[in-house]
Amino acid sequence: MRRPSARQGFDVQVFEKTHGPGGRCNQLQVDGFTWDVGPTIVLMPEVFEETFRALGRRIEDYLTLVRCDPNYRVHFRDGSDVTFTSELCTMGRELERVEPGSFQRYLAFMAQGRDQYRISLDHFVGRNFNGVSDYFSPGVLAKIFKARAHRRMYADVSRYFQDDRLRAAMTFQTMYLGVSPFESPAVYGLLPFTELGVGIWFPKGGLYAIPLALERLAREEGVTLHYGRAVERILTEGGRTTGVRLAGGEVVSADAVLCNADLPYAYEKLLDPKDAPFKRGEKLRFTSSGYMLYLGMKKRVPGLLHHNVMFGRDYAGSFDDIFQRFRVPEDPSFYVNVPTRTDPSLAPEGKDSLYVLVPVPHQHANLDWAVEGPKVRAKVFQRLAELGYPDLEADIEVERVFTPDDWAGTYNLARGSAFGLAQNFFQIGPFRPANVDPRVKNLFFVGASTQPGTGLPTVLISARLVTERLMEWAHKQGVVLSPRQGVPAVEVAA
Ligand SMILES: Cc1cc2nc3c(=O)[nH]c(=O)nc-3n(C[C@H](O)[C@H](O)[C@H](O)COP(=O)(O)OP(=O)(O)OC[C@H]3O[C@@H](n4cnc5c(N)ncnc54)[C@H](O)[C@@H]3O)c2cc1C
Repeated sequence: MRRPSARQGFDVQVFEKTHGPGGRCNQLQVDGFTWDVGPTIVLMPEVFEETFRALGRRIEDYLTLVRCDPNYRVHFRDGSDVTFTSELCTMGRELERVEPGSFQRYLAFMAQGRDQYRISLDHFVGRNFNGVSDYFSPGVLAKIFKARAHRRMYADVSRYFQDDRLRAAMTFQTMYLGVSPFESPAVYGLLPFTELGVGIWFPKGGLYAIPLALERLAREEGVTLHYGRAVERILTEGGRTTGVRLAGGEVVSADAVLCNADLPYAYEKLLDPKDAPFKRGEKLRFTSSGYMLYLGMKKRVPGLLHHNVMFGRDYAGSFDDIFQRFRVPEDPSFYVNVPTRTDPSLAPEGKDSLYVLVPVPHQHANLDWAVEGPKVRAKVFQRLAELGYPDLEADIEVERVFTPDDWAGTYNLARGSAFGLAQNFFQIGPFRPANVDPRVKNLFFVGASTQPGTGLPTVLISARLVTERLMEWAHKQGVVLSPRQGVPAVEVAA
């Protein structure tokens, strides 16, 4: 996903290894069934609106966003469930069923989440940092404490809820960022707030409608897109990049390179370590991956909402398995997405498209996916059978599988990590690899593994931030940009 800088006067050429836009936000179509490959949830719709507004467009002219309410249903191992909704009275009834007295505290939790959301967008996520001292200025430090970025998510949520089920239901959202709630900063309380306070949204046609809309926008702005053209090397010489070499050997010269390929992969595979060493590379931590099932069902599956979360038995232990022991939890939690609940056109009439995401470790020597995959699959169907869907497997018409090896192979995601570099305290803000290389000053980065972080809205913000960097660079070079007239050439390695 990328926001082009063509509007600012750059001549933008995009080289993308796959055969269309989207990257991880891709789409799979088989025999009339359609699935989003990666993201399924639009949070923070205002960031998407802002992207279109920045280019003088209205998002409504490109995308139809539909609100999903109820948001999702979570199923616990004891057979109970809770349906989450932004409708306050219903939400109150649901929470009180599980933990009497919790609704009042839920409102306080939401109020804190709103503060965290605003502080994060205004002070951490929405701006470039010029080094650690910039981050730790007295003003920003005060905000860190107010947003509770110094506390752990699970411990913080436990101040509001006593019941383990609600603690799990209000913390699992850190897995949208591929990190454990036991390790991630409490500032991610902003995630349940955005879901419940701002809503979960879905573009008609599926999430893939977003890259299609951005692709249209990019073309209208004069960006040239080259699909099926992998970059083999980002060329560097004397502390500058001079362009890229494509697979097949063609060299494309450029005044600057903006790399959207996963940053750790780019440093490890596309760059010469002599010119652009990957500092801290060995020490950096990665997010989890996802074992995916894309199922086309012969008939509709009653009882499932658009978004469903199935919790496994040992909530805390499952994160230790994924992030420390690098093994698939014995009884894994997983997420089932049924996009046909909101947009029936995504499957043939009377049928359903199902997407199952099982959070699993990133690639590791412990895990051979040819062996693990079928075991995980069997566990998913066993759990779904226990939840009242004993014949689900027999009702499959079409099935596709994606493992951490596929995430690595298809999109060049380092370690097959689905969400990029982890977002623990020491890998956010200025501690996260920067969007401009410290030595090669005309080499820029955008996307999930650079600042500010992962998730669709965040990578759109990343595009805005790197555009500011590009403009600063152009200004320092004394380059006069003529908006939309195409000077100077900028190479974008997708
Ligand atoms: C399973 C899953 C579920 C998710 N769910 C959500 C969700 O519900 N909501 C949400 O907001 N976010 C979600 N995310 C996160 C979100 O998808 C990512 O943060 C975001 O899409 C990352 O965008 P990006 O541009 O950084 O990377 P990418 O989309 O991976 O783009 C990088 C591009 O670079 C290309 N590339 C790589 N190497 C080369 C090369 N050498 N030459 C040319 N091209 C190259 C790749 O093919 C790819 O197109 C999810 C991610 C996954 C995997």
